[in-house]
Amino acid sequence: GQEREVLTWATFGDASRDLTKKIVDDGFVPEVVIAIARGGLIPAGAISYAMGVKAAGTLNVEFYSDIEETLPDPVVLEPLLDTDAIVGKKLLVVDDVADSGRTLALVIDLLKAHTADVRSAVIYTKPRTIVQPDYSWRETDKWINFPWSTLPVIT
Ligand code: 5GP
Repeated sequence: GQEREVLTWATFGDASRDLTKKIVDDGFVPEVVIAIARGGLIPAGAISYAMGVKAAGTLNVEFYSDIEETLPDPVVLEPLLDTDAIVGKKLLVVDDVADSGRTLALVIDLLKAHTADVRSAVIYTKPRTIVQPDYSWRETDKWINFPWSTLPVIT
Protein backbone atom coordinates (compact mmCIF):
# COMPACT_ATOMS: atom_id res chain seq x y z
CA GLY A 1 0.00 0.00 0.00
CA GLN A 2 0.83 3.68 0.03
CA GLU A 3 2.97 5.33 2.65
CA ARG A 4 1.00 6.54 5.67
CA GLU A 5 1.42 9.09 8.38
CA VAL A 6 0.67 7.15 11.57
CA LEU A 7 -0.47 9.10 14.63
CA THR A 8 -0.36 7.04 17.83
CA TRP A 9 -2.43 7.77 20.96
CA ALA A 10 0.73 8.85 22.78
CA THR A 11 1.80 11.23 20.02
CA PHE A 12 -1.76 12.56 19.75
CA GLY A 13 -1.54 13.46 23.45
CA ASP A 14 1.58 15.54 22.83
CA ALA A 15 0.19 16.98 19.57
CA SER A 16 -2.98 18.27 21.23
CA ARG A 17 -0.93 19.96 23.99
CA ASP A 18 1.46 21.52 21.41
CA LEU A 19 -1.43 22.71 19.28
CA THR A 20 -3.16 24.24 22.31
CA LYS A 21 0.09 26.04 23.23
CA LYS A 22 0.11 27.67 19.78
CA ILE A 23 -3.46 28.94 20.28
CA VAL A 24 -2.78 30.22 23.82
CA ASP A 25 0.52 31.86 22.79
CA ASP A 26 -1.41 33.66 20.05
CA GLY A 27 -3.67 35.14 22.72
CA PHE A 28 -6.85 33.59 21.36
CA VAL A 29 -9.39 32.60 24.01
CA PRO A 30 -12.47 31.00 22.45
CA GLU A 31 -15.80 31.15 24.28
CA VAL A 32 -16.97 27.94 22.62
CA VAL A 33 -15.01 25.05 21.12
CA ILE A 34 -16.84 23.37 18.22
CA ALA A 35 -15.82 19.87 17.15
CA ILE A 36 -16.42 18.79 13.59
CA ALA A 37 -17.73 15.28 14.16
CA ARG A 38 -16.64 12.74 14.05
CA GLY A 39 -12.94 13.28 13.23
CA GLY A 40 -12.67 16.44 15.31
CA LEU A 41 -14.42 15.10 18.44
CA ILE A 42 -11.37 13.71 20.18
CA PRO A 43 -9.03 16.58 19.19
CA ALA A 44 -11.66 19.14 20.31
CA GLY A 45 -12.11 17.38 23.65
CA ALA A 46 -8.36 17.36 24.26
CA ILE A 47 -7.99 21.03 23.28
CA SER A 48 -10.98 22.20 25.34
CA TYR A 49 -9.54 20.52 28.46
CA ALA A 50 -6.03 21.82 27.71
CA MET A 51 -7.42 25.37 27.37
CA GLY A 52 -9.83 25.12 30.28
CA VAL A 53 -12.79 26.03 28.06
CA LYS A 54 -15.89 24.18 29.26
CA ALA A 55 -18.34 25.22 26.55
CA ALA A 56 -18.08 22.66 23.79
CA GLY A 57 -20.38 21.73 20.93
CA THR A 58 -20.35 19.65 17.80
CA LEU A 59 -21.27 20.00 14.17
CA ASN A 60 -21.62 16.71 12.35
CA VAL A 61 -20.29 16.68 8.77
CA GLU A 62 -19.63 13.75 6.45
CA PHE A 63 -17.39 13.86 3.40
CA TYR A 64 -15.13 10.81 3.20
CA SER A 65 -16.96 7.52 2.80
CA ASP A 66 -13.69 5.53 2.73
CA ILE A 67 -9.95 6.00 2.32
CA GLU A 68 -9.49 8.60 -0.40
CA GLU A 69 -13.15 8.15 -1.43
CA THR A 70 -15.36 11.17 -0.99
CA LEU A 71 -19.01 12.03 -1.41
CA PRO A 72 -19.65 14.70 -4.11
CA ASP A 73 -19.85 17.40 -1.40
CA PRO A 74 -19.46 17.58 2.36
CA VAL A 75 -22.90 17.39 4.00
CA VAL A 76 -24.13 18.44 7.44
CA LEU A 77 -25.72 15.55 9.29
CA GLU A 78 -27.99 15.42 12.35
CA PRO A 79 -27.92 16.18 15.20
CA LEU A 80 -27.65 19.86 14.26
CA LEU A 81 -25.78 22.49 16.26
CA ASP A 82 -27.95 24.90 18.25
CA THR A 83 -26.88 28.09 16.46
CA ASP A 84 -28.74 30.36 18.96
CA ALA A 85 -26.12 29.40 21.53
CA ILE A 86 -23.18 30.69 19.45
CA VAL A 87 -24.47 34.08 18.30
CA GLY A 88 -21.76 36.73 18.75
CA LYS A 89 -19.37 34.29 20.45
CA LYS A 90 -15.67 33.72 19.76
CA LEU A 91 -15.44 30.23 18.31
CA LEU A 92 -12.68 27.70 17.83
CA VAL A 93 -13.58 25.04 15.25
CA VAL A 94 -11.54 21.85 15.59
CA ASP A 95 -11.02 19.04 13.10
CA ASP A 96 -8.53 16.21 12.71
CA VAL A 97 -7.20 17.33 9.30
CA ALA A 98 -7.72 19.95 6.61
CA ASP A 99 -7.24 17.78 3.51
CA SER A 100 -9.16 19.32 0.60
CA GLY A 101 -10.27 21.85 3.21
CA ARG A 102 -13.85 21.65 1.91
CA THR A 103 -15.27 20.45 5.23
CA LEU A 104 -13.59 23.29 7.11
CA ALA A 105 -14.68 25.82 4.47
CA LEU A 106 -18.32 24.68 4.75
CA VAL A 107 -18.30 24.81 8.54
CA ILE A 108 -16.58 28.22 8.73
CA ASP A 109 -19.10 29.67 6.24
CA LEU A 110 -21.98 28.26 8.24
CA LEU A 111 -20.71 29.59 11.57
CA LYS A 112 -19.71 33.01 10.18
CA ALA A 113 -23.40 33.61 9.51
CA HIS A 114 -23.88 33.71 13.31
CA THR A 115 -20.71 35.27 14.69
CA ALA A 116 -17.65 37.24 13.52
CA ASP A 117 -14.66 35.60 15.22
CA VAL A 118 -14.37 32.03 13.99
CA ARG A 119 -10.92 30.44 14.04
CA SER A 120 -9.87 26.92 13.21
CA ALA A 121 -7.42 24.37 14.59
CA VAL A 122 -6.43 21.02 13.10
CA ILE A 123 -3.84 18.38 13.93
CA TYR A 124 -2.75 18.09 10.29
CA THR A 125 -2.88 20.31 7.21
CA LYS A 126 -2.38 18.95 3.70
CA PRO A 127 -0.74 21.22 1.12
CA ARG A 128 -3.78 21.24 -1.20
CA THR A 129 -6.27 22.65 1.33
CA ILE A 130 -8.51 25.47 0.05
CA VAL A 131 -8.63 27.08 3.52
CA GLN A 132 -5.55 27.62 5.65
CA PRO A 133 -6.43 26.71 9.25
CA ASP A 134 -5.44 29.37 11.83
CA TYR A 135 -3.66 26.77 13.94
CA SER A 136 -2.14 23.49 12.83
CA TRP A 137 0.25 21.01 14.43
CA ARG A 138 1.88 19.50 11.33
CA GLU A 139 1.74 19.38 7.56
CA THR A 140 1.72 16.15 5.51
CA ASP A 141 0.66 15.02 2.03
CA LYS A 142 0.25 11.38 3.12
CA TRP A 143 -2.94 9.57 4.15
CA ILE A 144 -3.08 9.77 7.94
CA ASN A 145 -3.98 6.89 10.24
CA PHE A 146 -5.60 8.38 13.33
CA PRO A 147 -5.62 6.21 16.47
CA TRP A 148 -9.42 6.41 16.83
CA SER A 149 -10.30 5.28 13.29
CA THR A 150 -7.62 2.76 12.36
CA LEU A 151 -8.83 -0.39 14.14
CA PRO A 152 -11.91 -2.25 12.86
CA VAL A 153 -15.34 -1.59 14.30
CA ILE A 154 -16.11 -3.91 17.24
CA THR A 155 -19.04 -6.20 16.53
P1 5GP B 1 -11.51 17.57 3.78
O1 5GP B 1 -12.87 18.12 3.67
O2 5GP B 1 -10.51 18.59 4.31
O3 5GP B 1 -11.04 16.99 2.48
O4 5GP B 1 -11.51 16.38 4.81
C1 5GP B 1 -12.67 16.02 5.51
C2 5GP B 1 -12.50 14.89 6.47
O5 5GP B 1 -12.05 13.73 5.79
C3 5GP B 1 -11.47 15.07 7.58
O6 5GP B 1 -11.98 15.80 8.67
C4 5GP B 1 -11.19 13.63 7.95
O7 5GP B 1 -12.16 13.12 8.84
C5 5GP B 1 -11.26 12.92 6.61
N1 5GP B 1 -9.90 12.80 6.07
C6 5GP B 1 -9.31 13.59 5.15
N2 5GP B 1 -8.03 13.22 4.95
C7 5GP B 1 -7.79 12.17 5.79
C8 5GP B 1 -6.64 11.36 6.06
O8 5GP B 1 -5.54 11.51 5.52
N3 5GP B 1 -6.82 10.35 6.98
C9 5GP B 1 -8.01 10.13 7.62
N4 5GP B 1 -8.07 9.12 8.50
N5 5GP B 1 -9.12 10.89 7.39
C10 5GP B 1 -9.00 11.90 6.49
